[in-house]
Order: sequence, then structure tokens, then C-alpha cells
Amino acid sequence: MWLLVPLAFAGKVLSTCRKQLSSLWGSLVPLLLWLRATLWLAGTDGAQTLTERKEPEGTKNQEEGSEDQSVIPTSVNYHFTRQCNYKCGFCFHTAKTSFVLPLEEAKKGLLMLKDAGMEKINFSGGEPFIHQRGDYLGKLVKFCKEDLALPSVSIVSNGSLIREQWFQSYGEYLDILAISCDSFDEQVNVLIGRGQGKINHVENLQKLRKWCRDYKVAFKINSVINRFNVEEDMREHIKALNPVRWKVFQCLLIEGENSGEDALREAERFIISDEEFEDFLERHKEVSCLVPESNQKMKDSYLILDEYMRFLNCTNGRKEPSKSILDVGVEAAIKFSGFDEKMFLKRGGKYMWSKADLRLDW
Ligand code: SF4
Repeated sequence: MWLLVPLAFAGKVLSTCRKQLSSLWGSLVPLLLWLRATLWLAGTDGAQTLTERKEPEGTKNQEEGSEDQSVIPTSVNYHFTRQCNYKCGFCFHTAKTSFVLPLEEAKKGLLMLKDAGMEKINFSGGEPFIHQRGDYLGKLVKFCKEDLALPSVSIVSNGSLIREQWFQSYGEYLDILAISCDSFDEQVNVLIGRGQGKINHVENLQKLRKWCRDYKVAFKINSVINRFNVEEDMREHIKALNPVRWKVFQCLLIEGENSGEDALREAERFIISDEEFEDFLERHKEVSCLVPESNQKMKDSYLILDEYMRFLNCTNGRKEPSKSILDVGVEAAIKFSGFDEKMFLKRGGKYMWSKADLRLDW
């Protein structure tokens, strides 16, 4: 019994202390949490600084487009046919096959590209108006504008097969029509191979300019500067036609297309030096819509899809195909495209490409 009194007293003291300790701990917890968070953040800041100093290489790789980085197909050039009615001596995309995808397959691929981030589609060839007299092309143009709601739908054509009826049916769905014209001297066009029968390429260009105005399609001109037109002065002609853009390319050799054993063309005699190209640009520098493209800028800065919807990789100087996006999907195929996104941006690949934004007075 005499032992119970001190034990009870000790229990009381302990209980009181525990209450006080518990209340003290309760007020210390927020303080400790704050301290821990502050120290952790300070540590993280330090680590980030170290990382920044230690790994500039990683950042560089990302900027340069390492293989892991997925490419967004913002702007795609779909060469759905290789057939053409012209025989330009330097042609970059020759008639090696006569294949064209069935319309529904092509639409399926275009939808896949849209889902992967495509904003602009450019239809090209060969001559895109040759297949089904332009009807196949018109249906794709309408599908891309109306169903896919792409901001920009454009075509590159030699212009010789376009009829006014086509503009009446499909003009409203087309943002930009680019016509290839390398010379305002018809004899030079004949030398280059840009011509067929009685069609006068220059007169036809003027007719197309008018139709573009009438049907509210932005008009563009593409010229390839080569041995036969490098001395020409095109300033007045271009200014009179007043295109939204005048793309001026330096003639380029591509093995298997216009150079080498398995090629359908021998373009060596068309090639000009970088200095000659610069002289041409200097002569035309007052033309405000001129957009120059040297060989270096041109080579890897286009996402090119061929007639099977395979990306074509030009990094080795020839067009090496990926698998078709219809078989492996866009993400897997695009890894083999060799696309240089930095050069695409540097050459002004992203511009005001929707006719709604161009605010033209036609
Ligand atoms: S018009 Fe174009 S596709 Fe046709 S041959 Fe000339 S460069 Fe080639």
C-alpha cells in the first residue's frame, strides 16, 4: 500500500508532462515542416544549377532534333502522283511509278496526319492535275478544307492542265496555288522542257493569275534557277503578276531522280554555283515577295510524302523512303524522314499560309 502513493504521484507527473510535451510538439511540427521544405527547395535549386552547368550537351541535342524527339508534321508535301505531261530536264520527282492511292486510302492517311498535328498540306507531283483530270485532286482539297478544317491547303502545279471549271468546283477550298515558271522567254522554257505542244507557258500563267483573282485563291510562283535562266531579269514580269510569294530555288541534284545511274534525268548541265545563285538574288532583291531557297536550305527542310504515303529522306542526297504511314502510323514513319525542323523554320517554312489571314484585295 505504501508503494501505491508515490507510483500514483509519478503517474500524474508523467501524464502532465506528456500533455505539455504533446502540445509543444504540436506547435513545433509546422516549424519543422517549414524548415524541411525550405532546406529541400534550397537543395533543389542547387541541383538545378549543377545540372544546367553539367549538361549543356543534352539541351543542344534536343535543339538539333535527336532521334528520340518526335517530329510534328506541321507542314506536309504530298506528291500523290509521279506522272507529268512536261519533261523538265532537272525534274526532282520523276515518273518512276504510275501508282496513285485509292481516294479513300489517301483520305485515311490525311486524317492520320491531321491527328498528328498537320496544319498545312501541299499537293504536288509529278503534275497533280493529271490524275482524273484534276477531279481526284479537287476531292482531296475539299476533304482537307471542309472535313479536316486545315488552316492551309495548297497546290504546286505546272499549270498547263488547269481548267476554269476546276476553280468553279473547288476554288473555295484552296488557299494557295503555286505555278512553276522558270522563264518569261518561251524559248528558254522549251529548252528547259517546261512545255507541251502548243501551250504557251507564259500566256497560260497570265490566265491562271486572273482565275486566282476571280475565284479568290492566293497566287504564288515557283522558279528553279538553272544554267538556262540564271542571267534573266524577271523583275518586271513578277511585279506585274504580283504573287503573294515568289519562291526562288537553286537547281538541286538528287541521286536516283535527276542524277546517277538509276535516274530518269541528267540534271548536271542545269547546275549553277552558289555565287551565280547569289548574283540572281542580288539582281532581284527589290522584289519584295521573293523567298530564296539555296540547295542547303532546301535539302532537308521539307516533309515529303510519296505516292505510297512514305516519308522521303533526302539527307544522303537521294530520296530514301520510310515505311508507309498507312502501315506503321505517322509517328513511326516520320522518324525516318530526315526532316530538319530548324532549317524548316529558318527558311521561313511557317508563314501566313491561310487565305483567310492573308487579307488580299485579290
Ligand atoms: S513540271 Fe514539275 S513534275 Fe513535271 S517534269 Fe517539270 S519539274 Fe517534273
